[in-house]
Amino acid sequence: MSASASTNAPAELSTAPLAPLEVGARLGRLQARLTDAELDALLVTKLANVRYLTGFTGSAGVLLVTRDRARFVTDGRYNQRAHEELDGAGVTAEVEIGLTGAAQRELLAAAVSPGTRLGLEEHSVTWAQQIDYATAFDGVDIAPAGELVEALRRVKDAGEIDRIGRACAIADDAFQSLLPMLGERPTEQAFALALEFAMRERGASGNSFDPIVASGPNGSKPHHVPSARVIERNELVVCDFGCIVEGYCSDMTRTVSVGDPGPDARHLYDVVLQSQAAGRAAVAVDVACAAVDRASRDVIADAGWADAFSHSTGHGVGLEIHEAPRVASTAGDTLLLNDVVTVEPGVYLPGIGGVRIEDTLVVGADGSEALTLTPKDLVL
Ligand code: ZN
Ligand code: ZN
Repeated sequence: MSASASTNAPAELSTAPLAPLEVGARLGRLQARLTDAELDALLVTKLANVRYLTGFTGSAGVLLVTRDRARFVTDGRYNQRAHEELDGAGVTAEVEIGLTGAAQRELLAAAVSPGTRLGLEEHSVTWAQQIDYATAFDGVDIAPAGELVEALRRVKDAGEIDRIGRACAIADDAFQSLLPMLGERPTEQAFALALEFAMRERGASGNSFDPIVASGPNGSKPHHVPSARVIERNELVVCDFGCIVEGYCSDMTRTVSVGDPGPDARHLYDVVLQSQAAGRAAVAVDVACAAVDRASRDVIADAGWADAFSHSTGHGVGLEIHEAPRVASTAGDTLLLNDVVTVEPGVYLPGIGGVRIEDTLVVGADGSEALTLTPKDLVL
């Protein structure tokens, strides 16, 4: 569903057509990387990767990519849809519909000769599936392929950035429209549900993850599940949420308070705000992901809360809510042009509460552009 299908979208929310996705060129880019990966072929089984390479949005399908061909198999439910989506995306692949299980594996195995070095996506293939593939691909040299498709996916094209940006704009607008509700003492659950509804109403196809609404002492749990607790005045409320537009996710956290939460809470907020600004300022092409994490983490450590920042600073966002690159102290790589990443430091104090502030950013040559634009005012 596109934003233009919503009848309730506010006038300021863009309903302009989204830039096209460049799906058709992706298979060629993957094939060009097979040699360096010392593979003759890759069996793509992770659905987000299948979607990225083919445009197929169904819930089951496998793509075999050799150096000069691609073969896609799915079951009978997706007969019409698979053809429509692959043709629509300009993908050149042989499409086989109607097979499942062993018959599907036999068909794929017939497309590779004995001695071929075939990569499996070992991070998404179960033990049982690996045994099934090893049996079907008799005589084929099966090897772990690593995250070949994920490495392509992390760098976004204009159409992808457009979709993530639209998902961010919808989340921005939904949240701002609901701020008055926070003053009416809703439960966390009621506010989370209202957020979900408002994002769907504005054209999102769903949540990119279940919204987190954590009020008062619940804010000390980074992934708190919204409860029946009433959101009171003069307390911190952490809201972390996002939605999906044409498969692409958004992710934003804001911490707010209806009325003044007091000097300790304001100090906590200011430290996290400075930490988030420091992390954002560090984001640029060729910067180590670990350096972005350090920029955010140092501010919090200097305030004495090193142990209370209990997660990494950020993550990539795209077809999955968490994808490459990781923005973490243990990350070994550097940011690339048009990576889309979050910066989301937080401080969590058990028994007291917490603050997290998060934006989704596009990595540019000299810095970054924020796609989440909700103001960062603590007090409503
Ligand atoms: Zn988030
Ligand atoms: Zn996040």
